[in-house]
Amino acid sequence: MKHVGDPRLHLVQSTDWKKAVVALLEPGSPYRPWRCGTTEAQEGDLVAYVLDTDPASVLTVTARVGPSRNPLDATFDRPLYKPTIVELSTLAALSGVDFSIADAWHFSGDDALRFDRALDDCRYISPPTSRFGHNSMAAARTLLQYCRRCEGCDRSVDLADAGARDELVAHTVDPYVRPAPSEFTLHTGLIDWPAAICGGCRDRMAAEGFTRFVDFKFVLHPSCPQCGRRRTREMFYGEPLDPSNIRPWQQAAGCCRAPEKWLCGACDHEW
Ligand SMILES: [Zn+2]
Ligand SMILES: [Zn+2]
Repeated sequence: MKHVGDPRLHLVQSTDWKKAVVALLEPGSPYRPWRCGTTEAQEGDLVAYVLDTDPASVLTVTARVGPSRNPLDATFDRPLYKPTIVELSTLAALSGVDFSIADAWHFSGDDALRFDRALDDCRYISPPTSRFGHNSMAAARTLLQYCRRCEGCDRSVDLADAGARDELVAHTVDPYVRPAPSEFTLHTGLIDWPAAICGGCRDRMAAEGFTRFVDFKFVLHPSCPQCGRRRTREMFYGEPLDPSNIRPWQQAAGCCRAPEKWLCGACDHEW
């Protein structure tokens, strides 16, 4: 897109972070939970999305103002796939705009470039532990990982529906506590895992007394035909795109495809 003069970056602020997450994941969503400082931007200007989470956060992918010149109509170069957010005050410090971040609606020149560059630097930082805790920033991070299907029942939640805000649910978990040096617990299912699930799975977990998502997920998988335990992981083949985010109920099974689909986490039986 064309752009003339100094680079400019506009901040768009959400008024309902959960509707904002839905609207970011699904451009066809009817939700428009955004405010901005001007409707007279320049075509090609950058737009960064500030979410009203606790603490406040910023989407690490920027959009571009289009021919309407309204930052609220900005579009992304490509559909968002598991986008990440970074805490606003951390980003402000990284980009050197921390004195004006509380009330600025746009940045120009070097400030705009540094802000955009700092966002880009944070774009692929997404360790599982960044989604631990019960605050809304962790919940937003978890929901932004939603990838067309509930992590519980595998059913698709229609994000273009007006009820999507209540139908897409973040299962949040306790803050992460660094384990003792000899313990490796994160990917074993011994501690719970944050998940983007549907309202049906939320209700079923509550009705059946599950407080931990990993236990619920293991019950949805078949029990082991050898030892009878319910710690079955679903195997997948091919190079993992993001090894640190393999779920405790998943198992990377290598690049050579085999007929086995399940692995027992208790006795290692495969079938
Ligand atoms: Zn579900
Ligand atoms: Zn077994």
